[in-house]
Amino acid sequence: MSADSIRGVKLSSVTLPLKTAISDAKVFTGRQKPMTEVAFLFAEISTEQGLEGIGFSYSKRAGGPAQFAHAKEVAEGLIGEDPNDIGRLITKLQWAGASVGRSGLATQALAAVDIALYDLKAKRADLPLAKLLGAHRDSVRTYNTSGGFLNASLEEVKERASRSVEEGIGGIKIKVGLPDNAEDIRRVRGVREHIGDEVPLMVDANQQWDRSTALRMGRRLEEFDLVWIEEPLDAYDVEGHARLTQTLDTPIATGEMLASVAEHERLIHGGACDIIQPDAPRVGGITQFMRLLTFADQKGLDLAPHFAMEIHLHLAACYPREPWVEHFDWLDPLFNERLETQDGRMLIPDRPGLGITMSEQARAWTVDSVEFGKL
Ligand SMILES: [Mg+2]
Repeated sequence: MSADSIRGVKLSSVTLPLKTAISDAKVFTGRQKPMTEVAFLFAEISTEQGLEGIGFSYSKRAGGPAQFAHAKEVAEGLIGEDPNDIGRLITKLQWAGASVGRSGLATQALAAVDIALYDLKAKRADLPLAKLLGAHRDSVRTYNTSGGFLNASLEEVKERASRSVEEGIGGIKIKVGLPDNAEDIRRVRGVREHIGDEVPLMVDANQQWDRSTALRMGRRLEEFDLVWIEEPLDAYDVEGHARLTQTLDTPIATGEMLASVAEHERLIHGGACDIIQPDAPRVGGITQFMRLLTFADQKGLDLAPHFAMEIHLHLAACYPREPWVEHFDWLDPLFNERLETQDGRMLIPDRPGLGITMSEQARAWTVDSVEFGKL
């Protein structure tokens, strides 16, 4: 097969408005304002042989313009390169921006490119991304998060939980971490009684407890037979999480806020959780995500990636132990395709690559874009 080369790269900064302002515990503790939009960095890459790849990264509340700006400075280095050499190309772009480090914003800017290159490679092979990477399964257990935020009343949360289960989404996650611990317990009890013992239920405190509150709340929550307690503590408190993991019967899940493989390595090797929740756009894309899965697997952890189901469905399908994927319908307006759920599972689409294309609406929400080479 003759070598292909990258002909054009387009970067787009897209602002997705949310239908309602969203609040988790960070809003109730006064640390953040309700979220009204999510910023996306899209990378579209085209080749001389006529293939196209698409990838995206994102940021909530702040950082979107900076991700776009960083990608804009380094992406030209892709032109003329063989798109199959993903490792080499990402390393090249890392060196081009080495001054701003290998975690956080800089790495998230490269994630969109890394994901687009994997999408392109899977399309070349005419395979869904999960099949290219090496899938263990054709569908992944899924749970709903978007119905369980703290801006919704308990009645609304219960109603949405019923609707999710009817739509074939198997589990229900609700937010906790309110300043009033008794109110958290009331909401969890209300939802558990409403959905019954058979439906998997998780809670997410979004880092808003201190160590003693997390331990006390963890003990009070044991009776609800939760699948996990998510982010009970500050995302970087490895020691505190490790203590909870050892003390409580309910599994501890964390990792969504971490912004590099190195940060995940500390969490994994520190025995800080039972379930790891990495986020491919946040850790630098698929190359980095698959690297940290190796560590997680060696430690016997379970996997439940954070957000971006359009990407994580494929990646979770490649984990040896049965994972979970987080169902968020927020991104639906950005794409022309929809993911299917059935009997509590999300199905890997049979379309090649990620199986997504940008919608006209996403084009209309584009606030900035730049092109290199010829698309
Ligand atoms: Mg979370």
